[in-house]
Amino acid sequence: MRQTRITRPLATLEAVVTEWLPSYVLGGKRTTQQAMKIERRSQRWPGATACWAVPLGGDMKLVDLTRPLDAADMDRLPPFMKGRHGVIVPEIEFHHPAGKGADAVCAVFGCTREDLPDGEGWGAESLHFNSHIGTHVDAPLHYGSKCEGKPARTISDIALDELFVDGFVLDLRDKAAPGEAIAVDVLKTAIQENGAEITRGAAVMLRTGQERFEVSDAGFYAYPGMSREGTLYLASTGAKILGTDALGWDRPFPVIRRTFQETKDRSTIWDGHFAGRDKEVFIVQQMYGLEQLPPHGFKVGFFPMRLVKCSAAPARVVAFLP
Ligand SMILES: [Zn+2]
Repeated sequence: MRQTRITRPLATLEAVVTEWLPSYVLGGKRTTQQAMKIERRSQRWPGATACWAVPLGGDMKLVDLTRPLDAADMDRLPPFMKGRHGVIVPEIEFHHPAGKGADAVCAVFGCTREDLPDGEGWGAESLHFNSHIGTHVDAPLHYGSKCEGKPARTISDIALDELFVDGFVLDLRDKAAPGEAIAVDVLKTAIQENGAEITRGAAVMLRTGQERFEVSDAGFYAYPGMSREGTLYLASTGAKILGTDALGWDRPFPVIRRTFQETKDRSTIWDGHFAGRDKEVFIVQQMYGLEQLPPHGFKVGFFPMRLVKCSAAPARVVAFLP
């Protein structure tokens, strides 16, 4: 009878550990074999480079710019959003340590709850949501299959160093109207008021004032949006990451729909996003807590889940303030 070995030989385990632990922790250099493995990973996901350590100053302050994903928000949605929660509220099936988690552990190890410490197993969750849920990074594939005439990049094609950049906040609170596109002149004025020169590859984040609203408020869904002209103008400043505190980058979908139905003008359909086919940008929606940031003078990291071939991924977005 053929036997299957289920334990991993120690030598292999050591190799796994030394490959994955940062070299500064181990105090040694990567072996040629490890370097080759890393190279193979970079070939499989082009643009995804191995990053081992980011030196941070001792007085660095971290600011979380990520909207919490709370399954309990499902009951807080206004009636007109029921059943349309995919990019707003996650569906989470909780496996509590004293409930389904205990059942799972008993099934896996062939034991009973009496065999478990305090009668509890593990906590775990099953998740269901759209890749564009909450604070997330859009990859160029979201805007179409081609970007700047080339195959559009997916979220796993984007390198970490493209997502750790200088941050700039444009305060548009008294300049932007719900449901309307933010004009280029308004953006120009806000950049002047910011007072700093936008650097190449930077993140420009629009504070439209949506921080006033929760998912239960109608105002959460009636946000100021961006047009094609506004999007291309921001991209022309050198910014690569375009963030907003609004639910969406474009004007609200019902507004776009009504405009198109009335005018039959194709150029009004999702034009803020579609502009990303002509100039590669990474759009980040549902940013949270922008009021905690100064206008400029800080770094911000947008680190999406590494979802291969996907058009977006939820991210933990963090500002690093000196
Ligand atoms: Zn998106």
